[in-house]
Amino acid sequence: MKQQLTIALSKGRIYKDTLPLLKHAGIEPLDDPETSRKLILDTNFPNIKLIIIRATDVPTFVEYGAADIGVSGKDVLLEHGGANVYEPLDLEIARCKLMVAGKPGTLGTGRRLRIATKFVNSAKRYYASKGEQVEIIKLYGSMELAPLVGLADAIVDLVDTGNTLRANGLEPLEHIADISSRLIVNKASLKTKSHEVNEFIQHMSDAVKLNSASRRD
Ligand code: AMP
Repeated sequence: MKQQLTIALSKGRIYKDTLPLLKHAGIEPLDDPETSRKLILDTNFPNIKLIIIRATDVPTFVEYGAADIGVSGKDVLLEHGGANVYEPLDLEIARCKLMVAGKPGTLGTGRRLRIATKFVNSAKRYYASKGEQVEIIKLYGSMELAPLVGLADAIVDLVDTGNTLRANGLEPLEHIADISSRLIVNKASLKTKSHEVNEFIQHMSDAVKLNSASRRD
């Protein structure tokens, strides 16, 4: 008898990009979370189910063992801090950069900057590592607005194409970290369900290699 595996995913970009990797591993959900209201999705494997939760909750579900495995952005993991989980695999999906951004000429004035961000912990760590004193304002979204209305001098946010910044007259100013989605695993599950968990990690690792090979072609 195979042991039950619960895999935590968030809707949107992560779900969309993880689906082909799961498919390569032979796993297909029986419902579509974008159209279904179900939070627990069965798959074609009776022992594997998916739970659909907020991206920022994925490390918590995995840390407490409510999910054995999760897919989480490195931005979320950095922000969550010492999540007590293993991070065995970079899935190389949902790639972007965590950056400082603002109007051209914002930096280097010698003034103490005000930074708006939802990545408060990552921003604090970044400026502490530079030995720079800043004031950090927590926002929950639309960070790009902050420098435009005088709420902040700059923002710390995820940048992919840079289109959102450009559309608002902002530009990337400093690179903080490269971001991609990671597979995370509950520490106890790795021991008590080692066969199922390791098999899953191996299949996903093969899928990542296949994915990156097809990107190079
Ligand atoms: P872009 O305009 O392509 O630079 O995308 C920037 C916007 O998309 C910002 O609002 C980001 O918060 C969001 N974003 C970009 N990449 C990601 C990602 N990998 N995960 C989550 N949000 C992202």
